[in-house]
This record gives sequence, structure tokens and C-alpha cells, in this order.
Amino acid sequence: MSMPTNLEIAELLAAAGDSADEYRRRAYHRAAGAALTWPEEVASLRDAGTPLSSLPQIGDRLAARIEGWLDDPPEVPEPPPSRAGFVTLAWARARLAEDPDWADQIRGDLQMHSNYSDGKHTLGEMTVAAASRGYSYIAITDHSGGQPVPPGMNVPAMKRQQNEIDRLNAAMDGDGFRVVKGIEMNLDPEGVGDVAHDDLTGFELVLGSFHSKLRVTDDQTPRYLAAVRNPSVDVLAHPTARRYNRRPSLDADWPAVFKAAIESGTAVEIDSHPHRGDLPLELIRVAVEAGVMFSIGSDAHDPEELGFLDVSLALALDGGVDPDRILVFKDVDDVLAWSSR
Ligand SMILES: [Zn+2]
Repeated sequence: MSMPTNLEIAELLAAAGDSADEYRRRAYHRAAGAALTWPEEVASLRDAGTPLSSLPQIGDRLAARIEGWLDDPPEVPEPPPSRAGFVTLAWARARLAEDPDWADQIRGDLQMHSNYSDGKHTLGEMTVAAASRGYSYIAITDHSGGQPVPPGMNVPAMKRQQNEIDRLNAAMDGDGFRVVKGIEMNLDPEGVGDVAHDDLTGFELVLGSFHSKLRVTDDQTPRYLAAVRNPSVDVLAHPTARRYNRRPSLDADWPAVFKAAIESGTAVEIDSHPHRGDLPLELIRVAVEAGVMFSIGSDAHDPEELGFLDVSLALALDGGVDPDRILVFKDVDDVLAWSSR
């Protein structure tokens, strides 16, 4: 048997947690989630002599457990639907290394959050961090909602943020870096946004996403058709709404949804967070077949998470996406021309 990958270690940890008592279950499940975000395969870390307890969420006891799995690889159980079909950051980095020119095409990142909503850092800090990665633009896409819990912007906060972005862009004029005014607008289960059309006028890019009624198992095609046909929405964000070890993808007639997205000029996102990886690979292949435009966003809530973008890049590469159909491979002027069409 070959050494378990981080994905397999995640499943071994999660499955061990499933059968543990409450306290240990949470530790195992947190570690399983963290395993998806480790940038290197644990097997190579150990070969390099790095103590596994240096990994986030891994204490001495879990490190010893993982060492045991590396020494004597066990059978990895079939994951339940809420853990099936995910990829890890370590997988993404290795996949991109096979085709180094692919990731060089990246020019920006079209989903991230600041402390205007649930991000941990200021708009300026996120911008500086993204610029230092070599991008030429980002979209700041804080949540709508207008409530402190879950954190979302009301209309005055949207205006304040847009003014702050104008000042930031003016200050960076000449550096060739641009902050795009974006928003991640909540869509209700009927596909209707929670921001009035007129209040969206200052935004250059509107992501629409579902954050409610995500555990239903019956067919959700009508809400998706309404979402991609919603004239305010430029990008359908984290489309299936799946979350690692929490809930599987919503179910829909995806070829019909993608066809409607193309007809409406709505892009479909590949969200990079390893706990989302959304679209999943098998749906990326369906979307490629349909010919959709893809948006890519890290969904970073702090500067370190900007590096999750590699997950989307690797999924797009592995899914056979045409580079011409990837918004972040285009110049910012082309992205904005597209979103304002
Ligand atoms: Zn979201």
C-alpha cells in the first residue's frame, strides 16, 4: 500500500472522530478539516524530518496517530457524501507543478472578505497582501445582509467601502493595481437578492450566493435558474454550497443551470477554500461541456488564505477549462467590460 495522502489522512481522522466521544470528535474533525489546508503532503513532511505536531490542529497524540498510519497504511473508508469529492491544497500545489505555465496566467482574485463583513483584516491589508502576490487586481466582495450577525454590510457601509476603495485606487494609481468594488449578495431560496437593484449601482462586480436552506435534498433547479437569470448577479458564487464534513452539494439539473448561466451572461465560480472547492471537479467538467465563463476567487478571510487560490487553479486545470473562459486570466478592463455588459 502507498503512503496515505492528506485527503486520505483527513478521512481517517474524520472517521476516527465519527466514532469518538464528543470532545475527541471535535478535535479529530477540526484536524480533518485542517488536513485539507496543509500545503504539503504529510508523508513528505515526515521524510524531511518535520515534526507533524507543527501542523495546525495537530497535537502530540494526533501526530502519533498519523505517524502510525504512515508506517502501516490502513484501509481508508469510503467517505460519506459530506466528505466526498474534495481536494487538498497539497494536491493542488502538486497538480500545478506539473504544468507551471498554467498558474502564470493568473492576474487577479475575484472573491475575498475584509472586516467590512466577516474578514479579519482591513481592506487596505487585504489589498497590500494581494498586490504582493503579483496580481494586478482583486475584487473585495464583502457580504450583504446589513446585520452584525452574520456580519454583512448595510447601505451606508457599502457607500463607505466604495469611497475607501476609490481612495485606495487613487493612492495606488501608477502601480498598475486596481481594487474592484464587489459584493457577495445573499440570495434567498427563490434566487432573489437581499440588496435593492438601485443600491447595487456603485458595485462593479456582484457575486450572488446561497447561504440558507442548504440542507435540503430535493431538486433545487428553480432557485438556480432564478439566480443565474437575476439581472443583478454577475457570478454565481460557491454554486453547490457544499462544506467539507458539514453538508453535501445541493442537487440540481446542472446542465440546465449552466445553459441558463450562459444565456444570461452569468459566470460560475470555482471557490478556492479547501472546505468548499466549489464547483467540484465533476461539475466543472459538466460546466466545461456547456461552455460557461468561470470566475475564480480565493474566498480569503485573511491574507494567508489568499494562497487557497491554487485549489481553484488546479481544479480548472484538471477539469480541462479553456483559459479563455477564465475571468481572472483576463485584464481587469476586460473583466469589467464583461461584468457591465
Ligand atoms: Zn458565501
